[in-house]
Amino acid sequence: MSDTLLLGAHMSIAGGVSTAPARGEELGCTAIQIFTKNANRWDAKPLSEEEISSYVEEMSKTSIKSVVAHDSYLINLCSPVDELLEKSRSAFLIEMERCEQLGIPALVTHPGSHVGSGEDVGIKGIAASLDWLHENFHGSTAKVALETTAGQGTNLGYTFEQIASMIEQTKDSDRLVVCLDTCHIFAAGYDIRTEATYNDTIEKFDKVIGLDKLACIHMNDSKFEFGKKKDRHEEIGDGFIGLEGFGFIMNDERLKAVPKVMETPKGDDGKSQDIINLKKLRLLLK
Ligand SMILES: [Zn+2]
Ligand SMILES: [Zn+2]
Repeated sequence: MSDTLLLGAHMSIAGGVSTAPARGEELGCTAIQIFTKNANRWDAKPLSEEEISSYVEEMSKTSIKSVVAHDSYLINLCSPVDELLEKSRSAFLIEMERCEQLGIPALVTHPGSHVGSGEDVGIKGIAASLDWLHENFHGSTAKVALETTAGQGTNLGYTFEQIASMIEQTKDSDRLVVCLDTCHIFAAGYDIRTEATYNDTIEKFDKVIGLDKLACIHMNDSKFEFGKKKDRHEEIGDGFIGLEGFGFIMNDERLKAVPKVMETPKGDDGKSQDIINLKKLRLLLK
């Protein structure tokens, strides 16, 4: 196993996906997350051969060792509205294909919102969409990373059991991994502020989902207090989780090989706060 710390942040793709590697390199990232298209729109121009090869070339010039993608916020893999479900599935398939084209191993997604149909129906629907995806996606490497959510509104995936249930109900579950978001789990009622609560949370994750499934950690502090089910990211150490909680993650041998990326406010210039927050995390290393 490599000793490289895999740490970084979500990077903008303004100007095209090939612009992201240099942005990450400038901040000293060894891991980044990107959108492969505009996250607030359904449609996207297919990636051109030039854009793909330029992305690969730009990436090779950097020290970035790990990239994950995040899907569009419009996608709901368990929408009870047929038209939206269909739209979500095909948009998600296209995003998986873009990951495959760019050599990105995992596409992080908020599993879905049941919008009143009920949690069990929603979870079943997510598994059905993942089955659909696996049948229609013929890429060989890219995997779906189900992200733990804060449990806002009717969002599913706010307990480890719900994520485990989605995995269990999906036929080809080897093609699924998980992304743990610190702000989201904290909002959902998993504490990480003390050594005891942190270890309890990680042990629960291991028991219910399995640490072998953990493909990415989103390092976000929380603007809201513990258990409020509110998804509002705060800069590292400035929220209700606090620096100590992030210290446990940074120094946890079990999580050493897992890429850690922030999705925190970047500052007006799009980077100065990232620089500060990444430094705070590095300083926590013992
Ligand atoms: Zn997310
Ligand atoms: Zn996240």
